[in-house]
Amino acid sequence: MRYTTNLKPADDPGSVFYNRCTIDLNSGATTIGEVPCTNLEDVLGGFGRSFQILAQRKISEAYSPENPLIMNIGLLTGTNVMTGLRVYFSAYSPLKKSSQGLPAAMWSAASGSFGNKLKWSGIDEVIFEGCSPTPVYAVFRATETGPAVELKPAEHLLELTSHEKIMVLQKEYDGAHFAVIGPAGENFRNVYLGAIAVSTDNQLKSGEQKSRFAGRGGMGSMMGYKNLLAIVAQSPDKLPKMTSAVRDINTGVLKNGGSARFQPVSQGGGGGTWANIEVLQAFHAVPLNNFRPKNNDDVEGLFRDNVEQEFEVVSEGCFHCGIRCHNNLFPRTPDGGRGPLAAKFDFEPLILFGSNVGIYNAKEACELIHLCDLLCMDAISLGATISYVLDYNERHPETPLLNGATFGDFARIRELIEDTGHGRSRDIGRGVKRLSEQVGETSYAMHVKGLELPAYLPETNPGYAFAIAGGHMSMGTHMLLAKEGKTSIDDWARVITTVGLLQVGYDMLGLCKFVGVGMGHELIAGAIKEALGLHISSEDIVVAVRRAFLRGIALELRQGFTDADYSLPSQVYDRINRNVTLPDFITSGFMTELKEKVWEVFTPELEGLLPEVDNEH
Ligand code: SF4
Repeated sequence: MRYTTNLKPADDPGSVFYNRCTIDLNSGATTIGEVPCTNLEDVLGGFGRSFQILAQRKISEAYSPENPLIMNIGLLTGTNVMTGLRVYFSAYSPLKKSSQGLPAAMWSAASGSFGNKLKWSGIDEVIFEGCSPTPVYAVFRATETGPAVELKPAEHLLELTSHEKIMVLQKEYDGAHFAVIGPAGENFRNVYLGAIAVSTDNQLKSGEQKSRFAGRGGMGSMMGYKNLLAIVAQSPDKLPKMTSAVRDINTGVLKNGGSARFQPVSQGGGGGTWANIEVLQAFHAVPLNNFRPKNNDDVEGLFRDNVEQEFEVVSEGCFHCGIRCHNNLFPRTPDGGRGPLAAKFDFEPLILFGSNVGIYNAKEACELIHLCDLLCMDAISLGATISYVLDYNERHPETPLLNGATFGDFARIRELIEDTGHGRSRDIGRGVKRLSEQVGETSYAMHVKGLELPAYLPETNPGYAFAIAGGHMSMGTHMLLAKEGKTSIDDWARVITTVGLLQVGYDMLGLCKFVGVGMGHELIAGAIKEALGLHISSEDIVVAVRRAFLRGIALELRQGFTDADYSLPSQVYDRINRNVTLPDFITSGFMTELKEKVWEVFTPELEGLLPEVDNEH
């Protein structure tokens, strides 16, 4: 990225240029060149920029050569600002589909060190066009004359797990980081929920499976469709010199309170998202048996104190990040030592491969999480689709689906994961929306707009309906009821249309959401000024983020989403769960009125956000 003398890009976005590489995978032709920004969303980056590229194309089938896979970074990726590591992958998704059958634009984000290396190689954005006729991987390299790119044969990587691919490539590329797919992405025809694994420093040093994942929306399956098995970014570290001003910003990130609950217990934090389990269990609101809590304490088996009796929990983090939100579990050995890494416990995979499938044993949950990671699938989509199968089988014991697995049946659940990752279970691999429609029972299929729900109950979050790229990552309302107890339509309409949607701003800037402050916070504008010398006011950031979110909604509508798609699984309205002690407030009437209020705000603002497009693929 380069900018001319005007340091106020909101007034003159054209003074900021980013480096884009376009690769035609069919022919192998590559071009690298500077592109001027057209608005502040372009400047901030991430999905704010990639969705404008996607908006220029009308795509009717995700697996079509005209559907690009866009990889880019955010404005603060590769800087000294804490968590400024993110890389983004965007495309029309194979998983998220409108009821008219058209794919929706999606993005997915990952931390790790790959984003930094890409930036330091001199590349801000890559557009992968078409499909390679043979398996390839792409290499981006910093050279004395600028960034260089190369496509290389990748047959030797076929069928390796995501971790194995990273370990193989590491031997060949010094000072590099990697973004790879696993067997799931390679089997993209039967697996729409393939993820992309991104290497971390810790993974390369330890040789242990410690990737971060861009999981949502099947971006790994898109890579598989394009026959692109891996991406290498190779560059010497070019972290700018730390200034006292940026150090103060980073201290602010650690001390402002917003990131506290994600920090290690040993440094006075809450111990990562894992801690949510205890917050929610106080209301019996932890998902059990396909999002259907019982009035029991079974889930306590997965509480940190109980797990620590069997496992040593080590708090680790990405490159230079003081939040250190990763909880890596190592089994305690009889001699007081520790065994090899078992898995990483974050709230989502832990619940979706634990209590939500009837597993309360940490060792078994570890094994399922680890397997999902190695095969490289989105833990949320896979977990929620499997819990649907188990629920169906409990309801239909005489005519069960697939291998007949039921809640708590570890061996058969493991088999379902293994089969899905290797492309042997198309029913699960295409996600819960398609499966539930196929078997004709949709009321307890836990998805909104074809994207499976994260591990927060739908009856606690009407905001899910308006998330544009996954329930909790693109609408910040998932803990609102437990924290603030809000139940009025006006309150929810206000939160969804104001602060809730601003959560997506982190996916433009290159920062983790665990920084924990709102987009209007001076810490964000301060970080941009101190790290890059650019003057962008908090107000301008908020306006650009809002526009980017609404462009996402406008794109959904253009792809055939209707008001009926903006809803929750109907079980929420029809089968109230009295075990949950949080207020029960979402009726179908509530949703109808809430949507009216939200559309009243959104609809006028959607005008003019999308370009005229006449090509149709
Ligand atoms: S907050 Fe967590 S995921 Fe984000 S950079 Fe820090 S350690 Fe990595």
